[in-house]
Amino acid sequence: MPFKKEIRLEDIPGIGDKTLEKLKSIGYADPMVIAVSSPTELANIAEIGEATAAKIINAIREKLDIGYETADKILERRTTVSKITTGSKNLDNLLGGGIETQAITEAYGQYGSGKTQLAFQLSVTVQLPKDKGGLDGACLFIDTENTFRPERIVQIARSLKLEPEKVLRNIYIARAFNTEHQILLVEKAPDMIEEKKIKLIVVDSLTSHFRADFIGRGELASRQQKLNRHLHQLQRLADAFNLAVYITNQVMSDPSMLFGDPTRPVGGNILGHMATYRLYLRRGKEGTRICKIIDAPDLVEGEAVFRITENGISDN
Ligand code: ATP
Ligand code: MG
Repeated sequence: MPFKKEIRLEDIPGIGDKTLEKLKSIGYADPMVIAVSSPTELANIAEIGEATAAKIINAIREKLDIGYETADKILERRTTVSKITTGSKNLDNLLGGGIETQAITEAYGQYGSGKTQLAFQLSVTVQLPKDKGGLDGACLFIDTENTFRPERIVQIARSLKLEPEKVLRNIYIARAFNTEHQILLVEKAPDMIEEKKIKLIVVDSLTSHFRADFIGRGELASRQQKLNRHLHQLQRLADAFNLAVYITNQVMSDPSMLFGDPTRPVGGNILGHMATYRLYLRRGKEGTRICKIIDAPDLVEGEAVFRITENGISDN
């Protein structure tokens, strides 16, 4: 697994103290980012010679093991994929059983569409035993908007006949104050994942700080680069620890769309590529919510209707 084979930049020949500092200051601390760079690109960015840059890239590529792997290995890993129930049969059916481990599931939609409520639901259901649709695990909840509500957790836990105090103790909340803090929280996560048996990581919302912290046009490139790194880190945790990642995302309206639904997720192509499953949530008739699958490698495109109730997510 790529994560277990963590390499340190300081161990790479060609990377001295000065280069190391430079790389870190521009957000190139992740070996994977360097491994996929071209020598010219790295030479320019880190202000080193192109030959040195090439040497560094090759050394990292060798260590990272980023080559091919045979399909049977992937199938073997996929057999350990498990799902977390959403509380709604309709939604579970649409998702092929629930939210998947080894994957990033993104929910986007307007305010009040149910993104956060689904996060609450999953942080409880992940604690259910496997035969009840859970993973018998704990949850790491990164809250960027200060909307985490323990009262809702208590309601959902009660309705599932779980002990609320115990359920609350299995949800580890971190308030992220800005983009850097949010990234750091994910970087530090491995320390506690094994110890606390974390099986679900929630980032609610993934994009709000990124939007607020990088506002200028000129900052778009560095925003996307940081977002890319952040998402790769989340995916690596999902793979290495066989856990599920659930992220929420805001929408913006696309004024160039004359017909159809002008709602688009924030985060651009990077997020579009990195999220394994993209779900679009919206309000339906009579207080219902509709979930539409926008992008999924192995699911039929379709929609499911669910409700948000006092007791959490359900069919009716
Ligand atoms: P935002 O973009 O603002 O974060 P969101 O998609 O995260 O929006 P949620 O917080 O998931 O929105 O959904 C809020 C909605 O959930 C409320 O408008 C309400 O309809 C419903 N809701 C919240 N609590 C309850 C409850 N106790 N009983 C029934 N419905 C509830
Ligand atoms: Mg929310």
